[in-house]
Amino acid sequence: MSQAQEPPRRKLLRIDDLLQRNVYDVDQRPHIILHAEKCEECEYKPCLRACPAECYVEVGGRVIFSYEGCLECGTCRVVCPHDAVEWDYPVSGRGVYYRFS
Ligand code: SF4
Repeated sequence: MSQAQEPPRRKLLRIDDLLQRNVYDVDQRPHIILHAEKCEECEYKPCLRACPAECYVEVGGRVIFSYEGCLECGTCRVVCPHDAVEWDYPVSGRGVYYRFS
């Protein structure tokens, strides 16, 4: 009597592992501009938790933004309650290149 073969196990990847597969062709000109003066009046600062690439960090009570690792998901534009995010895609051919394998 033969034993049934177990299906191959899928390796679960962490989000950090997946992000490391991406390739970025960073433009000199930022495609997102943060008007950080508006962040000072923001109570909850949802961008700090919503950005999957952690492009927004809080340092000394101020929101600091860097666009270089942006995934172009648009979340920060949607969640900002003070319209502090001036958002656009990078110029054609620049920005993130996703790699899924
Ligand atoms: S578009 Fe997405 S990845 Fe880029 S900064 Fe905004 S939330 Fe972060």
